[in-house]
Amino acid sequence: MANYTPMIQQYLKVKEGAKDAFLFFRLGDFYEMFFEDAILASKELEITLTGREGGGEERIPMCGVPYHAAEGYIQRLIEKGYKVAICEQLDDPAVTKGMVRRDIVRVVTPGTVMDGKIIADKNNNYLVCVTEEDGMMALAACDLTTGELYVTSVLSGAEWLRDEIGIYEPAEIIGDAALLDMLRSEASLLAKPVVYTPWEKREEELARRQFGEAAWVRLEKERGQCLALLISYLSETQRRSLGQLSQISPYEPGNYMILDPFTRRNLELTETVRERSKKGSLLWLLDRTETSMGGRLLRRRIDKPLLQRAPIERRLEAVDYLYNQFIVREDLRGALKEIYDLERLVGRIAFGSANGRDMNALKLSLAQIPALKDMCMASGSATLREIGASMDVCAELREDIDRAIVEEAPVSVRDGGIIRAGYHERLDELREASSSGKRWIAELEAKERQATGIKSLKIGYNKIFGYYIEITRSNLSSLPEGRYERKQTLANAERFVTPELKEKEALILEAQDKMTDLEYSLFIELRDRISAQIPRLQALAEKVAEIDVYQCLAAVSAEHRFVKPKLTDGYDLRLTGGRHPVVEAVLKDAAFIANGSTLSKEEGNILLITGPNMAGKSTYMRQVALICILAQIGCFVPAGSAEVPLIDRIFTRIGAADDLIGGQSTFMVEMADIQVMTEKATARSLIIIDELGRGTSTSEGMAIAQAVIEYVHDTIACKALVSTHFHELAHLEQSLRGLRNYSMAVQESGDKVNFLRKLVPGAADSSYGIYCARLAGLPEGIIDRAYGLLQSIEQAAPPGTVSLHYGSGYTEHTGQGIQENQALAVPPNSEEDPDAGGQAYASSRSGSVY
Ligand code: ADP
Repeated sequence: MANYTPMIQQYLKVKEGAKDAFLFFRLGDFYEMFFEDAILASKELEITLTGREGGGEERIPMCGVPYHAAEGYIQRLIEKGYKVAICEQLDDPAVTKGMVRRDIVRVVTPGTVMDGKIIADKNNNYLVCVTEEDGMMALAACDLTTGELYVTSVLSGAEWLRDEIGIYEPAEIIGDAALLDMLRSEASLLAKPVVYTPWEKREEELARRQFGEAAWVRLEKERGQCLALLISYLSETQRRSLGQLSQISPYEPGNYMILDPFTRRNLELTETVRERSKKGSLLWLLDRTETSMGGRLLRRRIDKPLLQRAPIERRLEAVDYLYNQFIVREDLRGALKEIYDLERLVGRIAFGSANGRDMNALKLSLAQIPALKDMCMASGSATLREIGASMDVCAELREDIDRAIVEEAPVSVRDGGIIRAGYHERLDELREASSSGKRWIAELEAKERQATGIKSLKIGYNKIFGYYIEITRSNLSSLPEGRYERKQTLANAERFVTPELKEKEALILEAQDKMTDLEYSLFIELRDRISAQIPRLQALAEKVAEIDVYQCLAAVSAEHRFVKPKLTDGYDLRLTGGRHPVVEAVLKDAAFIANGSTLSKEEGNILLITGPNMAGKSTYMRQVALICILAQIGCFVPAGSAEVPLIDRIFTRIGAADDLIGGQSTFMVEMADIQVMTEKATARSLIIIDELGRGTSTSEGMAIAQAVIEYVHDTIACKALVSTHFHELAHLEQSLRGLRNYSMAVQESGDKVNFLRKLVPGAADSSYGIYCARLAGLPEGIIDRAYGLLQSIEQAAPPGTVSLHYGSGYTEHTGQGIQENQALAVPPNSEEDPDAGGQAYASSRSGSVY
């Protein structure tokens, strides 16, 4: 170190404080990187690697980016999962003798980035902090851009932590190193790449100050400790006040339905399994929100369905009212459309990065609030009236901004042109001084033209020479010698000044300098005033978001003919005419076939569903889960009628998400899932297993499937939908009181099979596997051979071992060549009443239990 130049020594010292980040070291107009940082950054950012003598034996690798373009480079590094420490010059180099002081002013990390591509409108960008102490696990999740801050805790549970993190999809997780290691091993569950930062420093005092003593003492100890850790990290990286984190939202995990990451993915709640895109997910179907905060709240509600009837009923009441009030809904949408992202505006104000345009966006948003409030107050919904009554319109903030900021504010806050005339006396005076100076110059120009007779004489301005009189070369001869002082010679003109002109120039420039400084400080004053009101604005943003979610759910429910669910504290689930909302919405030509579901102690709490591939089994099972979720977030549901008991947890084991954990076999994943299920499910849970018992030999698979079903039946006693290829398992209906056989109806005609997508009592008697192979386009030779083999296997098997056909399902033989067509032969009344449909088919079954 001794040999390095003082500058490199300073660099190395600062770098000590940012070992896990790129250090952007400010040198004049550039941020420079050195040593390993430079080598890696030049690769990642595709910028030239150079070198510099630094007093060591070898040249020091170096690369840099211009300071005014740094934002883009920083964002690129963050998107790649790196951190960037920004080191600024703390002294003005122009007036400093010797080395200027330099230090880190902020560390940008994936979980603390304030802008850029990562910050999509309707998404959150969470930083999650996890701790475990004295047998308690705590989790805090914060979004610096919106100011949201959640905290919760439970008695230690690794699965719980995994489930909870799955909900936040954080960009960065900090905290206990051991916990991070555990989470890292399950990282492939998370949709987004995550950066893990072990963190130990915990300053309770900081947290107390951040949230205030009153809020602090109300917190459970482990939650407080977790927040203290988080706040220490934020203060170390952000090094500024974080006024947007003013409110803590603690919550009890037990108040929400538990959805593990597999289930959330399998049900495609917020993104699809394959593309991991929002399009095609439940969120996509539901999202008619007009505001970004509404969009984020909707997502949070989907992520956290409620477990208590009262708050769900409160939500349903608002949706119900708006469902029937098209005009009110449209009026609300009209007002909401004009509201900008209040939470993010507030975040920028607190962070000190808001500009004049942000202020105007806040003003325009606030201008919508009185009307929105009135609409809610005048509505026929108690929930909306309550929200309306509690809305603080923040009128004086709007007026304050309106008085201060010009209509078309510039992007920069440092170059003036931002404060309105009449707002501040001194500013008006300076403006007057500057414009009178400019008037004087315009008059001088006219005067000199006349005096010299040179019509093209003009007065110009540039940054280097200031004001000057310019005379073209051809006119120079008309200029009386010694009239002006010569300043600069151009190719075809000469530039002059006069002492008077320079005097005025000094006045104008001084006024302008003072003006920009004053405008800046007036702007900062305004921003600070608003910053002090952040909790009010955040509370308002929450209300706006909630109204937005209600109009959104009402609009979707009305458009897709959803009905209001009847929530019960009982056990039985009864749906008539249930539909899968997303599959229904994307089916273009064909109609979606509705199916009912009855899961009750008396009529069976386990449905064992058989039927060929493509028959609609998994769609059916998913739709039941989605209807429960929709009901518990307070939305209408896609059904003819729905009686929904509160479900505490949904487990799914659905084939499509097989490849979730790389390296593990499908079978092992299935077994691990089922293990968790046996441990966690309660009688109030809903279990969905698609194709139970795949991935091992037929006899073992069947044996495991039967044992699992018996366990669910006898021990857990919850509602369950199980599909299987093993129609041989149909015999369980005889031994298990709560199990019913169902199948997805197909219609056979000659060698064609038509999927009716209708759930009917009784087991299917064939899997139509070979038929599906043909649909998939396998060569006819293979298909013929497979049919031949099947026949000989079935003939060779002793009676009863291959097909323990219990019921025949609904298999209609028409003898005509019918192509796949859902509109065919749907049973009478089936849309409305599945049980009626069921009875209509009962006759086609043998040995019915019904
Ligand atoms: P399975 O699980 O039995 O293999 P899926 O549930 O995956 O079958 O359904 C296959 C396809 O059939 C779906 O992608 C969907 O397009 C269509 N489908 C499923 N259920 C219905 C229904 N009730 N009405 C209309 N089409 C349906």
